[in-house]
Amino acid sequence: MEVIYLGPEFAIEDVRRVLKKPLIPVIVSTQKDLSETIKSAFGIIDASMKFKLDRALLEKAANLRVVSCATTGSDHIDSSFLGSKNIPLHTMKEDPELIYSLTPAAELSWALLMACARQLPKALDHVKRGLWNREDFPSVVLKGKRMGLVGFGRIGSWMARYASAFGMDVSAYDPYAKNFPNHIRQLSLDELLATSDFLSVHVPLNAGTKNLISSELLEKIKPGAIVINTSRGGIINENALLRCLESGRIAAAGLDVLDGEPTIEGHPLLQYARSHENLLITPHCGGFSPDAVKIVCARAAEKLNAYIGKVT
Ligand code: NAD
Repeated sequence: MEVIYLGPEFAIEDVRRVLKKPLIPVIVSTQKDLSETIKSAFGIIDASMKFKLDRALLEKAANLRVVSCATTGSDHIDSSFLGSKNIPLHTMKEDPELIYSLTPAAELSWALLMACARQLPKALDHVKRGLWNREDFPSVVLKGKRMGLVGFGRIGSWMARYASAFGMDVSAYDPYAKNFPNHIRQLSLDELLATSDFLSVHVPLNAGTKNLISSELLEKIKPGAIVINTSRGGIINENALLRCLESGRIAAAGLDVLDGEPTIEGHPLLQYARSHENLLITPHCGGFSPDAVKIVCARAAEKLNAYIGKVT
């Protein structure tokens, strides 16, 4: 019984390992292949979100019994059509604990924080230029400093753990989060900005969070703070952030996201980063990790096994 696998090739072995006989994964990477293979497929594992599984396509799927996404989103799938055919649609929303355990975006956020604190790219470049002068790299000690987290969900709470491990005092602003650990101080956003040595942003971009870290708020930020944003570009006012970097009000910033990405040419922050060492920008790579993709693909495949006996 064929199971269409839509996803990166590096995870196919994990899918194969998990699927029980007689299920066999078939890698499909083109729309044409998909239109053909779906006619006989028993199931679909979708880890790519690249192909629209719309009504026109799903109508061809005479033997389809189950669709399992290795993602939390499934907007690209006609779920009402699947429902009308009693074909279950599984997503990773069913696995909050597993999703919580995926740390690559939090780890990159921490890496940016450390890289800013230790001027890492500048120091690496210094040595490549044949220099060896440690006085050029005075460090900021993390221990005892305040970590301010905007958003205390999955990534925010991992950041809190990392910060605690480094002996930092952790504060957070998240009016919707429940179950704050006792050692985390809850502050208003104004207070968080005014008192944090490191500010890291971990909220979704929506109408309520667009421009959340506004120009007015940034005027109140603690002088010398380091700002990290791996969420979305529009959450921090980028013009105001640039002004803070130019004026030295904030010491450094580490960003994995830019407003308007992936079109970045001409972006004022990128222009600034090209000639200044206190702004580090990575290409929205925080959440991308084959290690994590393999884990979610295996989980998505596991769900298909439950349907083997149900085939008539
Ligand atoms: P999450 O849903 O687990 O947590 C988000 C938190 O933000 C929640 O606790 C929520 O209560 C809080 N929140 C919502 N609105 C708020 C507001 N107005 N003020 C303060 N807090 C608010 O999400 P997560 O997994 O921690 O991810 C956070 C964001 O990081 C995502 O929305 C996404 O934009 C971004 N992200 C980026 C990458 C990357 O590759 N750089 C990867 C994954 C996620």
